[in-house]
Amino acid sequence: MPAHNPASLSEDLTVNTTNDSTKDVTNAPTDKANDGSTIHDTDDSSGMRKRMRSDEFIERVRKRMWKELDDDADVPNLEYTEQNPIQRSRSRVREHMERASALFFVELAPSSTARGARCQFVDCDKRIKEGDYRIAVVPGMNNVYQSPGNCFEKLVDFWKIEYIKRLQALTRATVFARGLKLSSMTCGNHLLDGGAERLVLYWIDSMRRLIAQRDGTEQTLMDPKLRDLLNRAGSASFKHEKPDGMTDFEYFKLFGLLATIESDGIEDKEEWNLIDQFVPLSFDKLEDLNETDSLSSMLRTWNLAQVLVCTEEGRLTDGGKRLRAEVDEKAARAIRRLGSIPMPDFQSALFDRYYSRR
Ligand SMILES: [Zn+2]
Repeated sequence: MPAHNPASLSEDLTVNTTNDSTKDVTNAPTDKANDGSTIHDTDDSSGMRKRMRSDEFIERVRKRMWKELDDDADVPNLEYTEQNPIQRSRSRVREHMERASALFFVELAPSSTARGARCQFVDCDKRIKEGDYRIAVVPGMNNVYQSPGNCFEKLVDFWKIEYIKRLQALTRATVFARGLKLSSMTCGNHLLDGGAERLVLYWIDSMRRLIAQRDGTEQTLMDPKLRDLLNRAGSASFKHEKPDGMTDFEYFKLFGLLATIESDGIEDKEEWNLIDQFVPLSFDKLEDLNETDSLSSMLRTWNLAQVLVCTEEGRLTDGGKRLRAEVDEKAARAIRRLGSIPMPDFQSALFDRYYSRR
């Protein structure tokens, strides 16, 4: 189970951060290698054939997922007349999104060159370093945007269903649609840590619920057992019950590693709750739909918490030490647990592939 090493977003809280020039570049794969596109293949020919078959399988899953997108939403005509560069970028993203059925993945930047990839937003010169959160537009544009940073949020309208339905958390469930090579996936590249996964999925779900309320469209109601599992796992009073159709693999992940609540036991009257701690909105009024920068602020705060808890105290600045002192033991335990990256169930994926070929 890889651990997410919180990245440079909170450099002002740490001292002696890793000097890029001293990084062991001999062990650091390139950007391209992490996207799986130019990995030097030292396998024999049978290994290569296996890899190709795995990639075909991934491609099939990816196509099926895109097909499931509902592209019948009422989409206004594109306007190409704007001169404002941000407006032009918005139009380009929209055009690309519709033509290529693009998805927007919130993910972790993989290990890369020392300087990191540049955020593609027209007005931004930030570099996205390993371990930063980012949003990748897939397929086609080869564009990544730093998040937190509110860059991508300026190019899309997440208060509209045609945009929010394309927003995905990159997790063990969606990684097969991301277009990565199997060899890259097995390293856990790009996958969100558990806390970011739960927060991003909660954010998307809450926005979709409010959009459905506003537009008077039908809401897909969540299975009560699943809702309970997502909201109450980890609480000492929670009685586990597996939702129908869920695999044991996923069930154990959700009530173990990914549990929303951290408890000190049945006597604990102040259980720690990830959603309460890090989601900045209550999502109980339509106005919350306008606060799309809350996605960035939520990830920023979550990343900050991980930096405080996971950084050796000697490397924290005085300000960082003061903030760290405010994090109690239970919260620190929860943040460390949720900072792990849950890996995909490769065994089941390959098992399915075997039977789909018979
Ligand atoms: Zn940016």
